[in-house]
Amino acid sequence: MTDKSRDLFSLADHGALFGILTSIAADGIIVIDENARILFYNDACRKLFQYTSDEVLSHNVNMLMPEPYRSEHDNYIARYRKTGDARIIGIGREVRGLRKDGSEFPMYLSVGEGVIADRRVFVGIVHDLTRIRTVEEHRAQSDRQLAQIVESSDDAIISKTLAGIVQTWNAGAERIFGYSPAEMIGRPISAIIPPERQEEEDAILERVRGGESILHYETTRIRKDGREIAISLSVSPVRDASGAVIGASKISRDVTERRRAEERENALQAELAHVARVSAVGQLSSALAHELNQPLTAIMNYVSAAKMRLSEGAQGQSDKTVTLLDRAIGQAERAGAIIQRLRAFLEKREPQRAGEELNTVLQEAIALGFVGSTDEGVKLVLDLAEDLPRVQVDKVQIQQVIVNLIRNATEAMRDSSVRELVISSYRAGPGLVEIAVADTGPGISDAIAAQLFEAFVTTKERGMGVGLSICRTIVEAHGGRISAAPNHPSGTVFKIQLPVNG
Ligand code: ADP
Repeated sequence: MTDKSRDLFSLADHGALFGILTSIAADGIIVIDENARILFYNDACRKLFQYTSDEVLSHNVNMLMPEPYRSEHDNYIARYRKTGDARIIGIGREVRGLRKDGSEFPMYLSVGEGVIADRRVFVGIVHDLTRIRTVEEHRAQSDRQLAQIVESSDDAIISKTLAGIVQTWNAGAERIFGYSPAEMIGRPISAIIPPERQEEEDAILERVRGGESILHYETTRIRKDGREIAISLSVSPVRDASGAVIGASKISRDVTERRRAEERENALQAELAHVARVSAVGQLSSALAHELNQPLTAIMNYVSAAKMRLSEGAQGQSDKTVTLLDRAIGQAERAGAIIQRLRAFLEKREPQRAGEELNTVLQEAIALGFVGSTDEGVKLVLDLAEDLPRVQVDKVQIQQVIVNLIRNATEAMRDSSVRELVISSYRAGPGLVEIAVADTGPGISDAIAAQLFEAFVTTKERGMGVGLSICRTIVEAHGGRISAAPNHPSGTVFKIQLPVNG
């Protein structure tokens, strides 16, 4: 120890040190005598209790206490002096302080005792808890608010451990799944998961473990009564203070009703699309009859010729007869193919998607939609890209769109001097293919351009105006887009863009 540092411990310096410590201390320091009279009161106390030293020195310290502490304090000191029974001394506890303006504040009071110049003194250190309490109250209040929000939510809000054990289960969860919190908390979440979906739950938990959130995942769950329900699920990781994932919170929304409504809407849409197909074929009927008549007439001719040859007993000419019959078979197949396409087109069926070759879908639709158009002098130009990826579509519905566009185009070109229909297919970007149907008609009339794809918009005397609206519904149900733009120098180009994976 150096001389200098030893100096610090001189009595005079002790006094100075005491002065510094008590004046800079953030906590209040009060010294009282055995009769509770205030002997010392530091600067921090002034800020806490609003009294100056002069106003409190030699007064009873109970002036700084609200009831019931105030009335009890003298008794308390007297009892302590008699029995040594300490309630605070050497222990410390949370009490309330009273400010000059009458307001109270929470404080932590530590009390010790000592002897100065043969007098017993008590030293109190007052630590203001106002800020901590305010923060705690805010936190408790926001916790309460959150709890209320969770409780009043229509959605099921559930938390669970990474092992799938339910930790919280709100009223929404009880309503949706039928189990009470008591039945689920502490139990495995698997109770509401269909056995065949268990793996899906494991996969979700695995992603959450990696810190990922899953949003609006549609799946099914089982209620307590055994009923299956459709839900939309969002799952997020729950982390501890260090950021480690310790569980998952799930919000489940019962979408059974919405799913049903969607199914009803889909069924209705399919029904409407079917009606439109029947009506389209109805409009095509005379052209179709003509289309069928051609191979049938040819068959008749070939078979008659073959019969004649056979009845004439033409020797050594059986090769020729076989050729005639082969031709008849070819024509019969052609007629069969037309009927086959028609049947497929007219069939009432559930929408079903499969990976289809776009150009094949197009060519079959053209065979139906273009029927009779050559007779009207319409020239067809095909520009189909090779190596297009397969598209996930409902073939009949997409064909219905194409047939509709082709019929509209040929009708539009009826009075045009140039009648050319260009149908093309090509890639329109990553994962996208496009079909364009371009005509040389008069273009879309301004009167309806803005509502072109709306139902019951028509410029035709006998038109229903539902064709394009059904086209749009079908294309959009496939995740695609349909649009119309002017063709150059005249006419209209309809474009259908489809995502490859639907
Ligand atoms: P509809 O054919 O029964 O009128 P659509 O919904 O198929 O119903 O067509 C709506 C309207 O759009 C048609 O009446 C026509 O005025 C216009 N339209 C459709 N395609 C073309 C086209 N290629 N060229 C010009 N106008 C068209």
